[in-house]
Amino acid sequence: ADFAIPELNVRAVTVRFAGLVALDAVSFTVAPGSIHAVIGPNGAGKSTCFNVLSGVYKATRGTVHLGEHELTGLAPHKIAELGIARTFQNIVLTQGTVADNLMLGRHGLTKAGFTATALHLPSAVREQRRHRERAREIAEFMDLGAVFDAPVGLLPYGVRKRVEMARALCMEPKVLLLDEPVAGMNGAERVRTAEAIASVRDGLGISIVLVEHDMGLIMRLADEVTVLDFGRRIASGHPDAIRRDPEVIRAYLGA
Ligand code: ADP
Ligand code: MG
Repeated sequence: ADFAIPELNVRAVTVRFAGLVALDAVSFTVAPGSIHAVIGPNGAGKSTCFNVLSGVYKATRGTVHLGEHELTGLAPHKIAELGIARTFQNIVLTQGTVADNLMLGRHGLTKAGFTATALHLPSAVREQRRHRERAREIAEFMDLGAVFDAPVGLLPYGVRKRVEMARALCMEPKVLLLDEPVAGMNGAERVRTAEAIASVRDGLGISIVLVEHDMGLIMRLADEVTVLDFGRRIASGHPDAIRRDPEVIRAYLGA
């Protein structure tokens, strides 16, 4: 039961900045093991939504629940511990190899203390080895096995984006938040990343919240779509219904 993926519930979340309502009473539910896309024009509130879900911004009103746990107002590291991992619209990787970056993702799961690790105590060494094995498994799952020991700085953009996703997966999340995962990628990289996203859902059973502008990708991948416009939810539903929704066409898809 520990591995069961809970529902993510966003209830009437409002976020105000001085003089601006970035999110206006937005609600949606992410079903366990599904891909839920959040779409909308620039400035609609998509990144703000992610920042609330990951604890970077505090909701002015409303609540966020992951299963039984209320996440509203918790610090980012607490929310991460409860099972929400994210990637950013712009790549945030550290120096070093792919393995180094993935091991950073394991950090929150490491039980051995700093001293035990520094002294290379056998228990700490064993634990590190287990984390490295798991990091390699996740790298292979994300089609990064061949570059596991390569410096990230030398990798093409599309591959680095996948490293970021793999690092988030190394936290063993229940929900993965992906902010524009294929932005700036070429066609081949898009296809590869789309396959990776689908296999995270189908192979790991993790829920995914996906912000993306690539409508083709959304139509192919998403189980449900929420459309934001000026901070308001204007539609929610199956991709086929969303594509035909007159208000969505007016606000976003353009006709
Ligand atoms: P999207 O990701 O859909 O393009 P954002 O969530 O980034 O939109 O932004 C929604 C609105 O909130 C925009 O008008 C943006 O300028 C504003 N906004 C976002 N973050 C802040 C902030 N930290 N302070 C003030 N305004 C912000
Ligand atoms: Mg954004």
